[in-house]
Parts: sequence; structure tokens; C-alpha cells
Amino acid sequence: MTAIRANYDAPRLRRLDAAHHIHPFSNATQVVAEGGGKLFAHADGIYIYDTDNKRYLDGMAGLWCVNVGYGREELVEAAARQMRELPYYSSFFGGTTPPTVELAAKLTELLGHGLNHVLFANSGSEANDTVVRLVRHFWNLEGKPKKKAFIARRHAYHGSTMAAASLGNWGTMHEQADLPLPGFHHVEAPYWYAEGGDKDPESFGIACAKAIEAKILELGADNVAAVIGEPVQGAGGVIVPPKSYWPEVERICRKHDVLLIADEVICGFGRTGAWFGFETLGFKPDIVSMAKGLSSGYQPISAVAVTDRIAKPLIDAGYWLHGFTYSGHPVAAAVALKNIEIMEREHLVQKVAKETGPYFAQRLKTLEKNPIVGEVRTLGLLGGIELVADKKTRKRFEPLGHAGTVCRERCLANGLIMRASFETMVLSPPLTITKAQIDELVTLAGRALDETAAELLKK
Ligand SMILES: *Cc1c(COP(=O)(O)O)cnc(C)c1O
Repeated sequence: MTAIRANYDAPRLRRLDAAHHIHPFSNATQVVAEGGGKLFAHADGIYIYDTDNKRYLDGMAGLWCVNVGYGREELVEAAARQMRELPYYSSFFGGTTPPTVELAAKLTELLGHGLNHVLFANSGSEANDTVVRLVRHFWNLEGKPKKKAFIARRHAYHGSTMAAASLGNWGTMHEQADLPLPGFHHVEAPYWYAEGGDKDPESFGIACAKAIEAKILELGADNVAAVIGEPVQGAGGVIVPPKSYWPEVERICRKHDVLLIADEVICGFGRTGAWFGFETLGFKPDIVSMAKGLSSGYQPISAVAVTDRIAKPLIDAGYWLHGFTYSGHPVAAAVALKNIEIMEREHLVQKVAKETGPYFAQRLKTLEKNPIVGEVRTLGLLGGIELVADKKTRKRFEPLGHAGTVCRERCLANGLIMRASFETMVLSPPLTITKAQIDELVTLAGRALDETAAELLKK
């Protein structure tokens, strides 16, 4: 594996970046004030390098996506081969291409549970937007056009388009676009550490599921289309639900004939130690959205899988006017297929379940010794480290968000990429990470947390 070392003119690029590039989810004022963004140049395995060749352990696998790690020549070859063969053709009007078909079939095999039909898109947001379109169409076809409301949870992230952001529940995101759109509702999330009060985790899990039922009854089951959730809420702060939660949510959805949607954009493709988060957390969804780990981020691609019950009326109805020019893109599909092949060949899912996941949990837990760490949460290779000013009262540092920003900076200085999500530091390393590399990650995180504690606790 030889990383390409292009000779970049970094000062020029940063100047142009500040002048012309508005970054997604970034503080634009700060990017301009600092004379451009942080330039990354190349990567290999679990490490990424900036243009000064400083090395960082990528504790986030990019943005929760580079599951098979960087520098995979096989994925490069799969893309190049497909580009030579057929770089693009549309799936509109009944067209299709070999990798698109193979990928659809492969996904249904991995998913099981009657999730036999797949639609493609290009991002997690588009997948969830597709879900909203699809569910509305489905209930119209079923002769229940009043069933239109979506119930999602607080702290949810489902993407950035108008519908996906409406499903999500971030205050500032909503304010900036006058969201949510009508018909999107939010209830308590199973966030025991911050919101569980004096309930034990399992009864809190049941109470949070009952909050969904209360919302269904308030709106009237005849008006509720679907409940959507990430099996583990990722961007909200790696919120791992109590075991009692999802089975009870599923029971409630069945009872009221409300569809259950799993947003597997982060949890899918091995992250929790199974192919999908719904397997780890013990429920069966009607609809699954996937992106990120589907191609390990080497190509933009996403998918939505649905059961026969949902596909049948759609197929029987003839034309459905939805899709994107690049839906089922052959190059992205070829890369996703090869990515899945690598995961199977290297037994990455089993490795997370049996070896690296448990080791990660055990090692990360040691960071709870730090005076500002309130709780460490893990599932598979997802980790959250919640920062508090007072462990006993779980009181947070003020102003909110500051502690995370300090910690993220200390991580970068120490050569670790760990993201701050509200008051929680989050981790989602490549699934190829070894035990020795987990030790390295925990050492770097520990050092950054010590430095953060020293800075925040000095008076
Ligand atoms: C990242 C993410 C999305 C949005 O995916 P994009 O590809 O950024 O549009 C949706 N749902 C979840 C759970 C995510 O983490």
C-alpha cells in the first residue's frame, strides 16, 4: 500500500479555501479567520496525515464511515474497472447495470427478515428523504391517506435535507431553516445518563418507549405513519439505549400499525458487532436506511430496504415518480460490493463482536477515572465519553459545548481525531483497528482528557 504523496502548495490552497469554500457543518467565521480549513493530504489504514505530514489516528473513521480503513487498493481497482466498463448509466425508465443488481441482491441477503427490496440514493440524507416520500406513498396506496405523521426522537440526527433535518432534532439546525416541516414530532430519547433521573436504565428504557406510544395516542394512530430511530444515536452523542427499549418500541408500533424505520446509516455494516444495529438491539424494522459504511466512504452511495408488505403495493401501482440521476450509480455500487466482500473475507463483523468490540469497551472504560469523565458508553466500535463538571450531580461545564471544543483541540495536538458531539466526545474507529491500536487510541485520548481537565478545572 503506497499512499500517493502529491506535492501540495498548502498556503495557496488554504488561501483559496478561505476565499471560496463554504464548509458544511463548520464555523465559517473561524475558517476564514484562521486563513482556511485544516488540510488533510493522504491516509493509510487507521491513520490520516495533514499537508505537514503530521499523523493522526482517525478515531472517527472519517465521519463514521471508513469501516475498512484507508488505502484499500482493491476498492480503487473496483472503481477503475467499472469506470472503464461503464462509468454511468441511469436506473430510470427500467434501466439497470450489473453492479447495481448485484448490490441490491447482496443487501437483501445480509439484511434478512423479509427486507427483500432495495432503492438506491447517494447519501444518508437522500435515503431518509426517500423514506419519507415512500412512506407517504405507501399509506396513500393503502387507502389510509391520513396516516402521515412521523415520530422521531430528541437528539436524533437523520441528515440535512429539509425532510431529513425535520426528522432530526437539533435546535439550531431547525431554527436556521424554520423546521421541522409540519407533521414531524419528537419524543424523549433513551438517554439514561443525562435524562434518566433516578430510574434504573431498564425501566427508563420502557418509559421512553411508552413516550412514543403516548405520542401515537395523542395524534391518533390513524394519523401516524411511522416511527424512525437510529438503533444507537450517533451524532447526538453515542446514546446507547437500555436493552428494554427497542423491543418495546417494536411492540408498540405493531400494536398501532405504525411502520418502524431503522436509520442504520452509522450502525449498519458492522459498527455494533452485527451487520446491522437492529440485530444487536433486538428488533425488526419495516424499512432500513443505509449509507456511510456501505461503501466505507470510498464512493457516495446510500440505500433504503423495505419489506414485501411495503414493496408489493408500490410495485402493483406502476409508476412511482421518485429517484436521482445517480441512484444505483454503477461505480459506487461496484465499490460497495467490493467493500462488503472485504468485510466478509476479513470477518470484520465477527472481529468487532468477539475481539475488538469487547476490548475497546474494557479499555475505554478506564477513562472514567478522569475527574471530568462522567460516563463512558460503548457498543461494538462506537464509543462516547461524556464530560461533566461534577460527577456526582452530573452537572455540565458552562458554557455548553466549550469542554468538547477544548478536548477536541487537545486530541488534535496529541495526534488523535476524536469528535465532540455536544457534551460527549465520540469515537467510531475503522473496524480494522487492532488491539494494539486500541491501546494507542486510549493512551492518546487519556492524555487529551488529562490536559482538558487541567485546563477546565484550573481556577
Ligand atoms: C450521517 C447520517 C445521516 C446523513 O447522511 P449524509 O450522507 O450525511 O446525508 C443520516 N442518518 C444518520 C444516522 C447519520 O449518522
